[in-house]
Amino acid sequence: MNKNKIDKKYKWNLKDIYENEEKLKEDIKECEKLLSYLDEYKEKINISSDMLFGVYELMEKIETKIIKIQAYAMLNYHMDMSDSKASKLYNEVEDFLSKAKIANSFVEPEITNIEEEKLRDFFNQDERLKKYEREINEIIKNKKHILTKEQEYVISKYGNVLESFSNIYDLLCDVDFKFGTIFDENKKEVMLTHANYSLYVMSNDENVRKQAYETMLKKYKEYINTITQNYLSSVKKDVITANLRNYSSSLHKAVESENSTIKVYEKLIETVNENLPVYHRYLRLKARLLGVEKLNQYDIFLETLNTNGKKYDFETSKNIVMKVLSLFGDEYTEILSKAFEERWIDVYERAGKYSGGYNMGVYSVHPYILLNFVDDIDSLRTLAHELGHCLHSYFSMKNQNLFNSDYTIMVAEVASTVNEIILSEYLIKNEKDKKMKAYYLNSLLNVIRGTLVVQTMFAEFEKKVHEYVEDDIPLSSEEVCNIYENINYRYLGDIVKPDEYGKYNWARIPHFYRNFYVYKYATGISSAIAIATRILSGDEEYKKRYIEMLKLGGSKDPLELLRLVDVDLETDKPVKDAFKYFEEKLIELENLINEL
Ligand SMILES: [Zn+2]
Repeated sequence: MNKNKIDKKYKWNLKDIYENEEKLKEDIKECEKLLSYLDEYKEKINISSDMLFGVYELMEKIETKIIKIQAYAMLNYHMDMSDSKASKLYNEVEDFLSKAKIANSFVEPEITNIEEEKLRDFFNQDERLKKYEREINEIIKNKKHILTKEQEYVISKYGNVLESFSNIYDLLCDVDFKFGTIFDENKKEVMLTHANYSLYVMSNDENVRKQAYETMLKKYKEYINTITQNYLSSVKKDVITANLRNYSSSLHKAVESENSTIKVYEKLIETVNENLPVYHRYLRLKARLLGVEKLNQYDIFLETLNTNGKKYDFETSKNIVMKVLSLFGDEYTEILSKAFEERWIDVYERAGKYSGGYNMGVYSVHPYILLNFVDDIDSLRTLAHELGHCLHSYFSMKNQNLFNSDYTIMVAEVASTVNEIILSEYLIKNEKDKKMKAYYLNSLLNVIRGTLVVQTMFAEFEKKVHEYVEDDIPLSSEEVCNIYENINYRYLGDIVKPDEYGKYNWARIPHFYRNFYVYKYATGISSAIAIATRILSGDEEYKKRYIEMLKLGGSKDPLELLRLVDVDLETDKPVKDAFKYFEEKLIELENLINEL
């Protein structure tokens, strides 16, 4: 869309952060002054509770400014990345931020060095410290995983080297790989890329799907030894780091860093495995819709049903979302209206604008949402999703101090997915056209498939590989591929035909270089299904409790926050219930298809 033609009301109002660039620059100066005050606390934090409080109060002041400075520069740049003035400001701010980061780097080690008893005394003596207690406790908790000064120095010297596996992977697979060409639906030869792969592998033309799938995976097969060696080195790094830092395993280290537990991880895998027959039933329906006896692996991504190009413009989408989310009550709805009216949302796609969609909470201001709205059902869904993030960050920022306002990824995707599910339920319920209704049901099932089932399969694979490395069992690339293949076929069941490429699919997943990350997608959607269904049942007391949980932000551990809304991820209940929900929707879809 032409950038000059877009009405101002669909663009961000960054003036809520700073009136203009001048004001931002003044704040950088102010911030530099505050940063210099930090020096007064160097090697003195342990003297008294007053000093400890003082340094935190100062850091809070600085950090609040930094968040505004960074947000303004980034959002301004993301509106038009071809604008040289915006990119210059963005770079200047980045430079400033890297200097600011160094200025307070002495605080954590100094607190680590204070004896625990002395710190307890500080807390008992000084009420004011209460607001920073959680932040400081995190530092104490990490104490047993911090090594001696000399050891930490040696490890830090290797810092960049240890982070290189993911870069090597990205360079090989995103830059060096050329996949060659395939023939599209019109027999036109086209270049296959990461960007258009999902388009072709979801094509209604079987031949196009097959070519896309095989051409893509052939490349990974060709380089499988290099990719495996690189991945195993990354796993070894995880294992050695966990071992050196006194964790019982790499998984232990990963879950502890976000206050989750191994039990959550294991319960997820166990419960998904117990419920695979429901997933197989879904795959059988997919085969039936395609009119085939058995599915090929490249058929799984296909939507099989379509919207016939149904359009939802932004104003219509806004009205739907306002209506659907009004069930959360007046407080929620008022903030939603503000988001639309006070230009918290940058709506339309245009040249130079950052792609995708996100929500960014700006502490002491309000959240900002970036969309690339193109008038379709996916755009509508993204709007509901990002508004979930938006309200969560708004509530959290309003009710918590800066340090307690940040919540971890375990809860971060909950509010957004709750909104998506509530929207889907509304669309399904209110659709008169049976074909459209079937489409909505199927796409909801597809989201649960991709988030709950597939991510848990990945989680199981990376757990297994880490265990082999932890047990010092050498693995060849053939063996790593076989581990994946066994898990993959167990998840797919006998409705899907084995083929020679399926076992290389793990090599396509960049997330494996952030070890034990993907399981959080699966626990996130399970939690969201549990919450959304309870809210839709009309339980008023529960609705209030949910909003209160959002307001707690990051002031408690994620598992504790979720328990406040009756979601206990250390039990099998949330995941079991998520499959029950999946099955209900599946049966509804099966019945609907019988009527079509
Ligand atoms: Zn999200």
